[in-house]
Amino acid sequence: MSRRDPIEERIDRLHFGGVIDMHFDLPMDLYGKRERGDVLETEFLPEFEAGNISVVGAAIYIEDQYLPQNGLRVALDQIARLYAETAASERFAICKTYREIQQARETGMIAFLITMEGIEPLGTDLSQLRVFYELGVRLIGLTHARTNAAGHGGLFAATGSPSEGLTEFGRQVVRECQALGVIVDLAHINQAGFEEILATTTKPPIVSHTNVRRYYDIDRNISDEQIKMIGERRGVIGINSILVSPREDESTLDHYVDHIEHVAELTGIDSVGIGFDFFEFIYRQWPESKQKELAAKFTTPHFIPDLTNHSHARNLTCRLIERGFSDVDIEKILRGNWLRIFEEIL
Ligand SMILES: [Zn+2]
Repeated sequence: MSRRDPIEERIDRLHFGGVIDMHFDLPMDLYGKRERGDVLETEFLPEFEAGNISVVGAAIYIEDQYLPQNGLRVALDQIARLYAETAASERFAICKTYREIQQARETGMIAFLITMEGIEPLGTDLSQLRVFYELGVRLIGLTHARTNAAGHGGLFAATGSPSEGLTEFGRQVVRECQALGVIVDLAHINQAGFEEILATTTKPPIVSHTNVRRYYDIDRNISDEQIKMIGERRGVIGINSILVSPREDESTLDHYVDHIEHVAELTGIDSVGIGFDFFEFIYRQWPESKQKELAAKFTTPHFIPDLTNHSHARNLTCRLIERGFSDVDIEKILRGNWLRIFEEIL
């Protein structure tokens, strides 16, 4: 009689409560395929299920080509696609509160938390924030790499990012997020903006998807100092899978775990989460000209071969086990720390 591999059984147990990924460019892809239906069920559900994914941060992001005129329009269209696709399936739920996330889990549904990467859709109108809140946006990062009405992003370079902090509008957005119960995301923001947001907010701060500068020294990633600032406030840092190293040969699952270990060493395990930022599926759809544009504007992403989509979440858990992480710590990384943030803020 054959028995199942004990490691696989251990992964099953660890994944039983689900895996949370706080950054996924899903709405952008659904928008790109808006002429079709059933994209969620046919293209994403099998991978979510294989990886036991329970909560996904679905990020609204507006590409340069739509700005400034169509930022609001495209953001609404991305959210509309997410609602339409979710309504057409019995396996997904758009969640706005911690309780709704728990309910989704209890009924075996995959929860989407709508997030916004860059406030371009708001224009300079704070009242739009309330509209997006009503639509379900529950986490907002003020900027991507580019400067906008709220502040400045960190460059994909070791130096040279703008040194100014937030604009007055950026400060208003942060205060309004805190008042509404929207999580403020520190991913991408430049150093001065990062510090200003920490000084303005009182809730545990989070970085939905980033890597550590120790292993990939660009302003877009976070320094040891910043990691400690998040840890001191009981915040959580989601480790990104696409910027683990400037070198292709170092972009490995083991090096992803090195980023986890580095944050854990500086802050303790309670500040480590996942923000995979899987992007290869979009990148591969692009013509070579657009891939080159990305490389020129930001950087050439090096995708980790055995960590490129949600079905690979089990590979990560397997490696965490092999690297000696305890079950309690693995469960915190996979979901527990993010759930604590949701419970506290949403
Ligand atoms: Zn990002």
